[in-house]
Amino acid sequence: MHEYAQDAMTYVRNYGRPDLFITFTCNPKWPEITNLLLTGQTSSDRHEIIARVFIQKIKVLMDYIVKHKVFGIIRCWMYSVEWQKRGLPHAHILLWMLDTIRPDDIDSIISAENPDPKTDPELYSVVTTNMIHGPCGVHNPDSPCMENGNCTKRFPPLLVADTVSGIDGYPLYRRRSTDNNGKSIVMKVKGNNVIVDNRWIVPYCPLLSKTFSTHCNVEYCNSIKSIKYVCKYVNKGSDMAVFGIVEPNANDEVTQFQLGRYVSCNEAIWRLFSFPIHERHPTVVHLAVHLENGQRVYFTDANAAQRAEQPQATTLTNFFSTCESDPFAWTLLYSEMPRYYTFNAASKRFQRRKKGNVVTGFTDVYSTDVLGRIYTVHRHQDECFYLRLLLVNIRGPTSFDSLRTVDGVLSHSLRCKCFFASESNSYIVCDHHSRMSSIGPDPIVGQI
Ligand SMILES: [Zn+2]
Repeated sequence: MHEYAQDAMTYVRNYGRPDLFITFTCNPKWPEITNLLLTGQTSSDRHEIIARVFIQKIKVLMDYIVKHKVFGIIRCWMYSVEWQKRGLPHAHILLWMLDTIRPDDIDSIISAENPDPKTDPELYSVVTTNMIHGPCGVHNPDSPCMENGNCTKRFPPLLVADTVSGIDGYPLYRRRSTDNNGKSIVMKVKGNNVIVDNRWIVPYCPLLSKTFSTHCNVEYCNSIKSIKYVCKYVNKGSDMAVFGIVEPNANDEVTQFQLGRYVSCNEAIWRLFSFPIHERHPTVVHLAVHLENGQRVYFTDANAAQRAEQPQATTLTNFFSTCESDPFAWTLLYSEMPRYYTFNAASKRFQRRKKGNVVTGFTDVYSTDVLGRIYTVHRHQDECFYLRLLLVNIRGPTSFDSLRTVDGVLSHSLRCKCFFASESNSYIVCDHHSRMSSIGPDPIVGQI
């Protein structure tokens, strides 16, 4: 999950913030499910039907968005499937558009208002049955969303006549008051009639809600601050529980409490069917980072001596040798390699791609939308951290030594090279072909 969140951040690094954040929930009342139930059964008796129908619904939804481009051309997407406590699945989807959604476009995609029952009775029935939050608060203090007297989902928000974006977090969607032509319905909450106005509507996309008639929350990703949150959120996994294991006369507090997850019936069936939990596009290739002779080497008794003499290449060591022999690789940053090369796991070599868009100036170089991500290195792993710092800034290095050479002189460490670079006018001298590559004034706060 940590890796997935990092991969989502790779999309952010390359393409900026995601545009839309969609939560798509399974509706046990879908006719595709209820039609298959035998007499006397409820949907919770037939988890295999729920799983089979939901995976197909997700596929249709993703096709609708990606292939049929209902919101425009999608540059990248990712989704993860999760289960609620009672077992129904839902998917969190992040979308990056080619043309970023502008604040003016929000109202044409997302609505947070009661539809008019006269002009669109179908949408009205989907929204009033699926998209109303609570009501909680004073109307129902025992609602599961309530914590210390406040709604954890921050309902009800303000009524505003126009969508307001530019604030941190999600925008304030247009929610017109009943005085300003907003619609309201009357709902029974705890035996009392409550007027549900536009404050209680979960933001939705009318097109998706009407097409899929289920709870489908659509949010516009507004601020930089919310990016890391949503990238982590979509990959957080299902609910966990802390539970105790009680043994008579034992008082070992460490083993007594364990953090565990529970696998619901539906999740169990999903995994038995080998349905995907996580899918995305484009591919993110992970790139190794290690100090010289610091890579992990696998060996058996039989080949230990041979492996010690000649360890297998890693993506990093082969990147160096490819830069030496291939003039195109020599122009690239390490993280750009997967765009033009595939790493052959058997031969441990980068090979030029055979398909894709032709790169101008080179006849046999093809580019794809594959992205590379260099593994993160903790700041405390000193030399390795600086190695990574140099790798994200220097094009076409041919060896570990070439990375730490400054003006033709081998500096004694990668750290030293970074600091030298920062003191000598914010530049790293790219020694072997004297190209200049810029780095921030302080290597530690430079591009990490
Ligand atoms: Zn609430």
